[in-house]
Amino acid sequence: MIHTKDAEGKIKNIPMVYGPQGQVKPNAKLFFNHKLVSCDFDNRVVTFESSQVGQPELLDGMVDDGIALLEKPGTRGKGMKTGTTNGSKMKSVKFDFLIGADGTHSCVRQSMMRALHMDFSQEYLQALWCDFIFPAAEDGGYRMRSTCLHIWPADHSIVICQPDVDGSFRAGMVCDAAKVRYYETHPDEFADFFDKEFPGIIPDILSAQEVTQQFVKHLKIPLKSVKCGTIGFKDRAILLGDSSHTMTPFYAMGMVTGLEDVRVFFQEFRDPKSASQTLAKNTPFCAPGTIDAYSKIRLPDVHAMVDLAAEHYHVLRFGVRSPTARTKKTVESFLSRWAPSWDWTTLYSRIQFGHERFTIVRQKEARQTKIITRLLAGAMGFFTSMVLASLVIFAIGMFAK
Ligand SMILES: Cc1cc2nc3c(=O)[nH]c(=O)nc-3n(C[C@H](O)[C@H](O)[C@H](O)COP(=O)(O)OP(=O)(O)OC[C@H]3O[C@@H](n4cnc5c(N)ncnc54)[C@H](O)[C@@H]3O)c2cc1C
Repeated sequence: MIHTKDAEGKIKNIPMVYGPQGQVKPNAKLFFNHKLVSCDFDNRVVTFESSQVGQPELLDGMVDDGIALLEKPGTRGKGMKTGTTNGSKMKSVKFDFLIGADGTHSCVRQSMMRALHMDFSQEYLQALWCDFIFPAAEDGGYRMRSTCLHIWPADHSIVICQPDVDGSFRAGMVCDAAKVRYYETHPDEFADFFDKEFPGIIPDILSAQEVTQQFVKHLKIPLKSVKCGTIGFKDRAILLGDSSHTMTPFYAMGMVTGLEDVRVFFQEFRDPKSASQTLAKNTPFCAPGTIDAYSKIRLPDVHAMVDLAAEHYHVLRFGVRSPTARTKKTVESFLSRWAPSWDWTTLYSRIQFGHERFTIVRQKEARQTKIITRLLAGAMGFFTSMVLASLVIFAIGMFAK
């Protein structure tokens, strides 16, 4: 809504549509406190458990015996059965197409695993994540450079820290799980450990007492990698986001990859024409074969991203301290800037700022690493031979005298 004045000076409100097709009304309904408990893909029915009374759309049609079938002719996808168990209400809802975006413990995925021969792997990092907040300086400014990702690398732990808009920094400590559990029961020893492991934070950014308080107060979050062998069921259900791939947060790409799933699926696979027909003519949500085609392309990419994220934990702790890795990065940045046609850039830029498929990113990185490692080895060999040759010439010169 634009608020302005007309030529006569009267207040004027001009509504302005936003969506690409001029939508002004959201076409999604939100139901809170409804937990999905099972999915029947064959009959296209999902069951929710609701502990909350008073959501009219879902409770419409409840009958005295607690069971009602709400499907009316021409209301496909809106059919619903309700029943009561132990004070909470169970509701069965018919669906045309089911999108499982219910996170790493996905119920849709679990139901899919019962219905399909679906490979699944889950690997926990033996480390836990704990948030720390580094407050703004007294004048409201930043205490460190706000244009950097700040890292305190250690052999078995790390602190990664990014600026927030209010002058503070949001930091995450990832630390060996056994150590975290130890300090949970011995909090008085934590600040000492933290200071030795991540020098320069105490006392300039946080006092020892604040570090301990935040450590005690904040959640300790497990980190894991999840991969699935299938991300859809026929042409009637799909997994998007963490339900189909969970990654460790070292590239900060978990949510980004989930959003990218949505873009790839809706832009590249689900034909927009069939999408508009679905609403108009009760046609299937997507054309036959869409989910299969999407899975074939997307699965290798998300698996590659899950692996890249896991590997980056090592890079952040050791790679950033290795002169070879730093030289490689400098050469890559130089080539990226001065010879862009060579398509040579850092892995980080490809992932964070590019739009290439993660499988391609991985291939290009492997090729670059191979070439640079050979060049660096060659340069080292050349340098060593030059030093040796100079020493020999010097020694011969000495003997000749
Ligand atoms: C410590 C940490 C730091 C991270 N940092 C970053 C970062 O910097 N950048 C980034 O891109 N990603 C980051 N991530 C990853 C990011 O948080 C996830 O990838 C993202 O939240 C996944 O979104 P999602 O919608 O797929 O799942 P979720 O965010 O998990 O959402 C799933 C939703 O489904 C609901 N749900 C679950 N089960 C049911 C059910 N049975 N019935 C009904 N509802 C249900 C949940 O309540 C939740 O609301 C980080 C993750 C962690 C753990």
